[in-house]
Amino acid sequence: MSDKSTILAALAHVSMPSGGNLATSGALSDIIVHHGKAYFSISVAPDAVQASEGLRKAAEEAAKSVPGIVSALVTLTAEKAASKPQPAAPKQAGPLASGPMNPARLAVQGVKHIIAVASGKGGVGKSTTSCNLALGFAARGLKVGVLDADIYGPSMPKLFAIHGKPTLAGGRTLNPMENYGIKVMSIGFLVDEEAAMIWRGPMVISAIQQMLREVAWGELDILVVDMPPGTGDAQLTMAQNVPLAGAVIVSTPQDLALIDARRGVAMFRKVEVPILGVIENMSYFIAPDTGKRYDIFGHGGARAEAERQGVPFLGEIPLAMNIRERSDSGLPVVVTEPDGPHAAAYRAIADRVWERLEGGGTTKAAPRIVFE
Ligand code: ADP
Repeated sequence: MSDKSTILAALAHVSMPSGGNLATSGALSDIIVHHGKAYFSISVAPDAVQASEGLRKAAEEAAKSVPGIVSALVTLTAEKAASKPQPAAPKQAGPLASGPMNPARLAVQGVKHIIAVASGKGGVGKSTTSCNLALGFAARGLKVGVLDADIYGPSMPKLFAIHGKPTLAGGRTLNPMENYGIKVMSIGFLVDEEAAMIWRGPMVISAIQQMLREVAWGELDILVVDMPPGTGDAQLTMAQNVPLAGAVIVSTPQDLALIDARRGVAMFRKVEVPILGVIENMSYFIAPDTGKRYDIFGHGGARAEAERQGVPFLGEIPLAMNIRERSDSGLPVVVTEPDGPHAAAYRAIADRVWERLEGGGTTKAAPRIVFE
């Protein structure tokens, strides 16, 4: 018998509150077994999440009782709350407008602002920017956290050079990991990269909710959420299920990246999350030997695109060898070269984002002037 069918047989001994057993209840997701670890979710009614904690635990215990299974991660998914993006209600204002009744959009206690860092496609430097931006906020003396929601390619453990596993704070709550004064939570601390890759749909949303609400973030001025790249359904649902104060879009200056960035702006607008602005990454290159500047990708495209979209332009980050080398070895420039020009560029962007958050100067607030 495969691991999967043995686990299913074990789950047949777990009773459902409504009668019958878990294995045949129809509430189980696919069961994924990877290196002796089992992952699956149980779908429950949105108002039964708390009451189903016993069921979740029993399912984990049952899975762990199967020979060869060393650990099990079972999550509860409330289908109605988390699965389908709901259209934004046009009459309501504010970041909660796209779902004030959606419990997933409720504020996280102690956390003042939650912002998303997003990109229309992968490889534009979104994660590098999230990391250095977070450090830029900390340089202002703010209390900062980073939630790595790039669940298919978590890079915060590497960028912050954090190893090991989070400890339990009590109950199901985990303590965030920490380095350079920033609190960090990433699925990369919890499961192997390959296991995260095979997660799908509701399980991903449930994992994000857990990283948001079952982590002892404490008092934070700002929590930076590194979104998965792209503008598909998964990203849309995620944007809708996190109480975001605003979104920052990272783009390179190339035309193709800009088209994707435009989709990013449209996606956040759809769920009524204010756009805090656009950052042009890999904007230009300064030759380290001659100091000569090269506009490799056609510098300035993101600024022009931001203007076209009527969203603020937050600043440019050059393509720089030391940004790459330092990020890739867990020594981000904002903390390891604080006096350099790149750290200054990230700090200036962090300042602009913070002013917009505190001053309320987001694109939503700007009235549209119509001439008749
Ligand atoms: P994404 O999150 O958009 O997929 P990453 O942040 O992982 O992108 O960046 C992709 C690669 O580009 C990484 O190797 C990173 O170090 C490098 N990179 C990002 N920004 C810069 C930059 N401004 N200059 C040089 N390399 C950069």
